[in-house]
Amino acid sequence: MPVGARRNRTLYGLASKMAGVHRYTKIRWGVGITLTILVALLPLTNTLRIDLWSNRSAWLGEEVGLVEALKAFAFPFLAINVGIILASRFLGRWLCGFVCPIGNLNRLQEWFDWRLRRGRWKHLASVVVFLACLLLAAITFSFWVDWRVFTQGSGTAVTVASLFLAATTLVIFGVVRGLGMRFCRDYCPSGVYFAVLGPESHTGVEFRFPENCTDCHACENACPVDLEPRKMAEAATRPGTGFYPDGLSNYANCLRCGDCVAVCEVTAEGEECEDTPLQLGWIRGESDTGVEEKASP
Ligand code: SF4
Ligand code: SF4
Repeated sequence: MPVGARRNRTLYGLASKMAGVHRYTKIRWGVGITLTILVALLPLTNTLRIDLWSNRSAWLGEEVGLVEALKAFAFPFLAINVGIILASRFLGRWLCGFVCPIGNLNRLQEWFDWRLRRGRWKHLASVVVFLACLLLAAITFSFWVDWRVFTQGSGTAVTVASLFLAATTLVIFGVVRGLGMRFCRDYCPSGVYFAVLGPESHTGVEFRFPENCTDCHACENACPVDLEPRKMAEAATRPGTGFYPDGLSNYANCLRCGDCVAVCEVTAEGEECEDTPLQLGWIRGESDTGVEEKASP
């Protein structure tokens, strides 16, 4: 089961041999931090807030009633979701690999667990992950409740708001600390419907230069969802787990996270992917050759 010590040893152990931070990691954190700031700014700038406490919702800088805000929010919310579904249907689950905040928290946790696996600081990972979960919960909270509830609200309102914030934090922390990447592999409801909607894809991982493969198996060990990245174009290679049904194609299960490609670039020494065996991007249909030959004794 790659999720856990074997994945961390492979992915983060090999990452420490890279000259710098891998480009996929930079993209992932660049996207994650930018989106987090943008989303956090929406309620803070009164661009959008649904206020369940005082009916002081906001839309485009104006204070409006709850119903008015919900009506205004409905169209962009639907449009964004339709866009995500269409993109996932034809291009695959890039959202899972590069955008999802829970996925990013899981990776943050993996990295800290790896870096602090020995010594007296090893419990620091839990503290950092908890604070990150609290931040995500606070951003979620600020969409639904005006923070003024804590200074102007009744005792009941303050209690309910505090419980809401605490429960959201603990649920996120429980998912991240208790399941980590197993949540992405087995239980994420969004991941399930992206996978079911997008059985085929025009983008993803391709075994493009099998002649350069060293048969190190690092790609399989690093994959968070138990795929065999060298066999993506073949029939489904893993059974359904958790909420995921049996029979989904490899491309439906793939998160498009690029971890297999990142470790492949280190082990096959195909710097900056000119001829690295595994490639992530537009599928050219040149994959699926050489695995058997290389893998067989
Ligand atoms: S096959 Fe590669 S890109 Fe897909 S989920 Fe596994 S590691 Fe990520
Ligand atoms: S494709 Fe890359 S990571 Fe996978 S076995 Fe071959 S060299 Fe190793």
